[in-house]
Parts: sequence; C-alpha cells; structure tokens
Amino acid sequence: MIKIIKDIEIYSPKYLGKKSIVIVNDKIEGVYDELEIPKNFINIEIIEGKDMYAFPGFIDAHVHLIGGGGEGGFKTRTPELQLSNLTRAGITTVNGCIGTDGVCRDMRALVAKVKALNEEGITATCYSGSYEIPVRTMIGSVKEDLMLVNEIIGVGEIALSDNRSSQPRLDQFINLVAESRVAGLLSNKSGIVNVHLGGGARRLNYLFEMLDETEIPATQVIPTHMNRTIELLDAGVEWIKRGGYIDLTTSSDLNNLEEGEMIASKALKYLLDKKLPIDRITFTSDGNGSMPLFDENGKLKELGICRVESLYEEVKKSILDEGIKIEDSLKTITSNVADLLKLKDKGRIEPKKDADIVIVNKADLSINKVIAMGKVVIENGIPIITGTFEKSIKESFE
Ligand code: ZN
Repeated sequence: MIKIIKDIEIYSPKYLGKKSIVIVNDKIEGVYDELEIPKNFINIEIIEGKDMYAFPGFIDAHVHLIGGGGEGGFKTRTPELQLSNLTRAGITTVNGCIGTDGVCRDMRALVAKVKALNEEGITATCYSGSYEIPVRTMIGSVKEDLMLVNEIIGVGEIALSDNRSSQPRLDQFINLVAESRVAGLLSNKSGIVNVHLGGGARRLNYLFEMLDETEIPATQVIPTHMNRTIELLDAGVEWIKRGGYIDLTTSSDLNNLEEGEMIASKALKYLLDKKLPIDRITFTSDGNGSMPLFDENGKLKELGICRVESLYEEVKKSILDEGIKIEDSLKTITSNVADLLKLKDKGRIEPKKDADIVIVNKADLSINKVIAMGKVVIENGIPIITGTFEKSIKESFE
C-alpha cells in the first residue's frame, strides 16, 4: 500500500517547504522535492496537498482514557474516551493515566483500553499508578510494570502540592523516581514520572530538592498543570533553567479562569518572552479529567469534562493570537513529547518514522485529514474509521 501526499507544505515540525511525502504501509518512506510517478505503475493513492500543511500526528501524553474525576462522589466519575474523540482532535499517539481514584480505576482496565486503541489503529501507551505513593501498580512494583508490560512507559500522575495528594515524604518521592529511572534504563523506555502539581505553596520544592540531593537528572520527571497559577509557572521557569521540561495543560474553563491561571497559549508566550528554549515545553490536554464549571458569581454550575480537542486549539491560538511561529508551537505536541517520552518512531515527518500525519487547511489551520499508522482515519474533518462501538452508541440515539 503506497500513498503519496503531493506538493504539500511540510512542518516536520521544522519548516521544509513544499514537497511530497511517500508513505509505504505504516511508515514514512521519504520526503521528496520532485516526484515522477511512472504511468501504469502499481496502484498508488494520491492525496493532493494544495492549500494544505502537513504536520506530524499530535501526541497527547496525559489523557484519562478510561475516565477520571469522581471527586464529587461516584456520579461525578467521567466516562471512557472513544477512538474518534482522539483522531478528530488530530491525536494519533496518546498516553493514558488514571488520576485521583486509584481504587475503582485500575491499571489492568487502563492497559486493556490502551491495547484496544492500538488494535483500533492509533498508538497508545500509559503510565503506571494514580495520584498516590506507594504506587498501585499492575503486577507488583513500578520496576516490574515498566520492564514486563509493553504498554507502560512511566509513572503518574503523582500528585504533589495538592490537598488531594497522598502527601508522600520527600524520600518516598525520590525513591519512586529512582526506581522508575532504573526500570526505564533496563527496558529502554523513558521511565518518566509525571507529576501533577496542585495550587499548594510548596510548588516544585520536592523536585528542586531531588536535584540538589541526588544524581537524578531533571528530565526524569515532567511536572504538569504548570499554567495553573503564575507562581507555579515562575517556579517552572527556574525548573527549565535547571535542565527540566515543563508541561502546560490545555483544558481550562475559558469563561472562568481561576485566579492566576493562564491558558496554555498565553503561558507559552510568557515563557518564550523570557527566552526559554521551546524544546523544553510540552502541552497535554488532561482529556476526560473532570473540570468544575462556575457561573459569573463563582458558584459551581456543573461538572464539565476536560477536552482532548483543546490540545490543538491552544496550539492554534498560540499561532493565530500570540504570533508564535508554527514550527515552534507545533513542537509542544510533536517532537518535544516524542523526545521526552522516548517515542522514537513518533513526532516528526521523516523517513522511517511512523506514518502519523495531520493535514490542515492553510487558510484557518482547521484539520482536514488525519493519517494514523498509514491509514486515513479522518477525511474532510469527519471520522471515516471509528471505534468498535461508536456507531452503535450513536445509532441508539438516532
Ligand atoms: Zn492532574
């Protein structure tokens, strides 16, 4: 099966100009300036690239795939994500996590969901554990989970500086990161620890103490929700200066931002204005986590759900509203994430990488087509491949 995306402007995420992309089965075979297709050659599917851009498939590394939430009682547990929720948002690689509830949300269920998404055609992985330390693992320990379960690539989200955290001691946190690091080395995975930051005053203290007191490099942890308050974001500035990455969450209640909260696109601009390297910043959606929505008077109106669509929406805003270059902004959801999570076949439009490509309309950057592992899954913005039960769910309401 050969596909050619012809004469398309490519952001790899680096801008490559107008070229043609050749896809063979599920891999990018090459990127060419000129391409002569011989007449009467074997059947090739041609995709016209006129007035379009090609981007690498988006990576969302923090999604509550089997649902999350539940912090307002059982009826506030959020539902499971379906395939086209992700592909419609341009996401071709997703990493799942559990969240606050490590009892009713369980690692085996998460790994099963990850396997299902891989069977359905995108690429999925997950973290081991939930908010708490000791980590509730799948087969006994963080080390065993990472070394023996293909789908598990790291640990998280571990909650710190939050009233919902298990309030681990510093040594417990450091031991966990150390175990995950060694397991990552032994299994050739990132072994990264994803750290959920709440609004607490301790902010990144544990992370800085880890750097001061141990040999563990800053890149072994990825602090997330860093745009929650300006104070936390400023701690993130220091963290980047000391060699770390930070992650900005794209889901927020746009009508009612919390005090000091900055939407991801604005936070990105804030960081770049401070001359911080774009290569150290990632975006994730926190998709399907719960999000309390408040009315104008600050009264809880209803519980909303964090949306995976916000991932690319914030990238678009950073380009269209904040004037950040496409090739810079795109890195936050493509190559930076692939580098950090050691997803070596992902994140770039290059020969030998997986054929995950998002094709957008140049005029407004809206998603036109999505190709996952060489298969077109979204055509003209509409899913042409859906999850196993999506159709029957939809039909039952028609
Ligand atoms: Zn979180």
